[in-house]
Amino acid sequence: MKLKEEKENIFLFSIDLEDVRVRVDNGLTYRARVDALVEQYLLFLNKYNVKATFFTVGDIPKYYPNLVNTIVKEGHEIACHSNKHIPVTKQTKEKFREDVVRNLENLYSAGANNIIGYRAPIYSITQNTSWAFDVLEDLGFKYSSSVLPAKNPLFGWENFGEAPRKIRSDLWEIPVSLRKGSFFKTPYAGGTYFRILPFFLIKNSFRHHFKNNIAVTGYFHPYDIDLKQERFMHPEINNSWVYNQLMYFNRKNVLSRLDKIMDLYDSKIIPYKNYIDILNRNE
Ligand SMILES: [Zn+2]
Repeated sequence: MKLKEEKENIFLFSIDLEDVRVRVDNGLTYRARVDALVEQYLLFLNKYNVKATFFTVGDIPKYYPNLVNTIVKEGHEIACHSNKHIPVTKQTKEKFREDVVRNLENLYSAGANNIIGYRAPIYSITQNTSWAFDVLEDLGFKYSSSVLPAKNPLFGWENFGEAPRKIRSDLWEIPVSLRKGSFFKTPYAGGTYFRILPFFLIKNSFRHHFKNNIAVTGYFHPYDIDLKQERFMHPEINNSWVYNQLMYFNRKNVLSRLDKIMDLYDSKIIPYKNYIDILNRNE
């Protein structure tokens, strides 16, 4: 969405805070890395004196009891990312509701407050699971960032549109940003895409969106910057050897690429909840 008032290069950087080991057979025999990796992201955010949003899975406090508190104390936003990271497409409406309620309870018990945001695991709100928006609105959420508005090998909602949109009377959906004008529309400002795409393509898309005063939505995982984790088959990628190679590709350059995006465009990272205020003012 083009904004009428603010003229800033808004980067909706976010962390999908999860521990993939939990979803892998014998995963807990691998090193616990999430605490240390979040620390690195916090250092990155502090360097630019900005606050961001951490979409957090409900079982994180079980494995990292102090992490939510640490993030809250530093002034960042905690939002939901499901309790057990099961894609919405694999749940019924009732199961989905139970999962989100559990997610909220676990995060509140761990120190979070005023949670108003939700991101579905693997951007799994699609046309067929749009009932999820009814549940989210009913539970008091003000925004979701759960749609990949293109065809995609995992999940996607092709005709959703790329702009944030009020999807229910008091609930916004902020879809993930897609590369500009490409034939094969993919995200670029997060996860595997941010690591594997040539950097000039990533820069071009940031520049294009910022020039048009469009906020860029991006998502990063702890593992995206992890250089010390053992290799194992990641969950939710259909046991694909190729995808698994990509899960480890170019992790070492993520933080330096992020620094370049911050410096080149004087990018401004803000929590999603602040962006919702801006959207409401611009409506
Ligand atoms: Zn996730």
